[in-house]
Amino acid sequence: MIDVKKDFPIFEQHKTLIYLDSAATTQKPKSVIDAISSFYSSQYGTVHRAIYDLSLNATALYENVRIKIATFLHANRDEIVFCRGTTDGINIIANSFSHTFLKEGDIVLLSHMEHHSNIVPWQLLQRDKKIQIKVIPVTQDGEIDLQAYQDLLDQGARLVSITHASNVLGTINPIKAMVRLAHQKGAKVLVDGAQGVQHHKIDVKDLDCDFYVFSGHKMYGPTGIGIVYGKKELLDQMPPIQGGGDMIEKVTFEKTTFQKSPIKFEAGTPMIAEVIGLGAAIDYLNHIGMENILAYEKKLTEYLIEKLKKIDRLKILGNPKERGALVSFALENLHPLDIATFLNLKNIAIRSGHLCAQPILSFFGYEQLSRISLGVYNSLSDIDLFIDSFEEIIRTLK
Ligand code: PMP
Repeated sequence: MIDVKKDFPIFEQHKTLIYLDSAATTQKPKSVIDAISSFYSSQYGTVHRAIYDLSLNATALYENVRIKIATFLHANRDEIVFCRGTTDGINIIANSFSHTFLKEGDIVLLSHMEHHSNIVPWQLLQRDKKIQIKVIPVTQDGEIDLQAYQDLLDQGARLVSITHASNVLGTINPIKAMVRLAHQKGAKVLVDGAQGVQHHKIDVKDLDCDFYVFSGHKMYGPTGIGIVYGKKELLDQMPPIQGGGDMIEKVTFEKTTFQKSPIKFEAGTPMIAEVIGLGAAIDYLNHIGMENILAYEKKLTEYLIEKLKKIDRLKILGNPKERGALVSFALENLHPLDIATFLNLKNIAIRSGHLCAQPILSFFGYEQLSRISLGVYNSLSDIDLFIDSFEEIIRTLK
């Protein structure tokens, strides 16, 4: 049992709020808000550039977070690139990796369950570099079709870009096995960890993935900050894709040389307060313990599914062997927007719409769905209150 609602000031301000949209973004604990506020009010300065105390101290705080994140992921500090979020991270890799490693006709494998953020950057590359995108099919249970995956790898893919956990189906993909299969065929693997890192203990060395990307705002940290983990030998071979301050070694009009990675990927004044806030979020997660979070959210999700299954005419999308802390569903004759609108009147926040993953929705025959996603602050009583209100709405609108 985790009982941490009191750590989140928003629930003090909105006493009756039932927040069930953590896969979109999580609420923030006081420790994260305080770390940002204290940095701005008493420690603020730029990083990497100046020799006065405020700047030296800010640089130490900022670089310590890099070490903290490296430790959290079992990586090395120079394998951690700060970026704006998952979307930004995938775009950075798509542009930089392709520069060194992809040429016209090369195959990038994506799965059918990807978020738009892990589809569109590759389509832009298809337009600009004439790469080929091939799609790994998903079974009716909402899992990766591993046989089809191996067949596609046999066609000579250069890169596999795959989500750790689906933001629609909840499926936790067998990343370690998929990485092993890809490496056997000489393909590199990028993992979209947007729905993975806040629920699971991540060991990038054990997974052996080449890149792992995620957003701070979905793991109790601030918006505007994300992480690209990349194996050092790859980052070293990949060029910067944005130029500006800080990422350079020497600039002349004739020629510019760059810093080593990761700094060569961090052009301009970075998101200093956001990095510090993310450091506080990592401390918060470590304090609760990732194993405890996983076990607690699993219990909540099982309870939610058990309750949803009792509702007539309701279909839960996906039936994966391993599911994260979210459930998407459709109810015959009731539109997801109506459900979310009526729940909102009861101060219950759930997600509705295409969930930024239109290909997998249309594979299952839907344009819109409802989604409940859980975080550490949720409780069994949140689920009971949601179910009571949901049943009332169904009775009223029927
Ligand atoms: N991938 C997945 C699986 C996601 O769930 C999301 C966010 N919904 C993203 C990528 C994009 O994350 P962000 O908007 O923070 O860049």
